[in-house]
Amino acid sequence: MSWRPARMGSAGVGTMARRADGTKKNRREPLPDVARQLFVFSGNECAWGDPNCTTRLVTAEDGWVGEIAHIIGAELTSARHEAWGGKDVDDLRHFSNLILLCKVHARNIDDKNSRDEFTVEYLRAVKERHEAPYRYGMEQLEAEFKDAVASNRVTPATTMRRYFDWEGEGLEPEEEAQTLDLVSQLAGRMGTLTRQARQVLALVVKENEPNCQLIERRLMTDPTTLISICEELAGVEAAELYVDEYGDSLPRVLLLSGAVSNVAEMWGQLREFTEDEGIDLNDILVNLDFSLLD
Ligand SMILES: [Zn+2]
Repeated sequence: MSWRPARMGSAGVGTMARRADGTKKNRREPLPDVARQLFVFSGNECAWGDPNCTTRLVTAEDGWVGEIAHIIGAELTSARHEAWGGKDVDDLRHFSNLILLCKVHARNIDDKNSRDEFTVEYLRAVKERHEAPYRYGMEQLEAEFKDAVASNRVTPATTMRRYFDWEGEGLEPEEEAQTLDLVSQLAGRMGTLTRQARQVLALVVKENEPNCQLIERRLMTDPTTLISICEELAGVEAAELYVDEYGDSLPRVLLLSGAVSNVAEMWGQLREFTEDEGIDLNDILVNLDFSLLD
């Protein structure tokens, strides 16, 4: 009751085998997408978890050695077939009814001498427990990808009225227009950064140039990633990594004012403005809603 996806996607997938009497078998091969999904969520390891089996499903020496086994067997004489209350034989090759195992464990759950030890509920739990971290990881990746694609939309400031009123400098309309223009340029540059880089930048502004350890801890990142993020930030002249050449202090991330060259104090002002006005700086620098300045 198993299937090797050596021919993944090739002809023959989905065909129906016949019994000796010529009638069609219930058992059908998994659809290529289902087989692929099973493999992605396997982590290339047998799903058996008690005790944990670490047999690789694809090995360098033998290639594919895994087996796709049915939890509820498809044929009348198959393991756990009595648990099938359905009508549509296609349900039996659904993702939820298939489990990816090494040869030994696939044989164990199907063998007449041992299969009664393994109930449908038990095997579903085995499958779920093994697949969960990989599924979760994939969902995270997808979410991050969607996030990266969708979240770079900049909502520009149109008047910066709220900001100017807070600043209370009584600027001439012309000066206000210039500032608005500079902030619009800044917003445009922020929109070219990855979300992660914007998160680092927002933290650096909030914490007023913290050391790398604090950033790594807060954003759960590692030194290598942080260095590449700092390069990204330096590319738009927003912030740069500062390493004390005598190693007397921890590396820090320093803010640059080059992004908006005429507003040297911009970062500090932005920090004070958001603190005074009860605005989350992340909403401006990470979520790119510059209309909060209006
Ligand atoms: Zn195994």
